[in-house]
Amino acid sequence: MTPRKRTVLRAVVLWAVAPRKCETCNDLWREYAQATYEHIHIDGKIKVAALSHDFDLVAKLTPECEAAGEARRTARDAVRRHEVEAHALTDPAMT
Ligand SMILES: [Zn+2]
Repeated sequence: MTPRKRTVLRAVVLWAVAPRKCETCNDLWREYAQATYEHIHIDGKIKVAALSHDFDLVAKLTPECEAAGEARRTARDAVRRHEVEAHALTDPAMT
């Protein structure tokens, strides 16, 4: 299994097994899993473009990848913040 597939699988598994303490948890975990998928998907497209020496496409996708990475971090932080504030947890063991 490639590192990319492992990361996506981990996000999906985390989403699937995450404790559903409330509807907000459910929504935040779903958003985090989706953001992770989108980030990894764009990152994969960049790697394929680079291997194909399509540097115009790499340049076009790089800002999208950075934005997707930021969205992923924001979603992860929202989960962590909610877990701490609403459920008094400190480490949901996320990447
Ligand atoms: Zn909650």
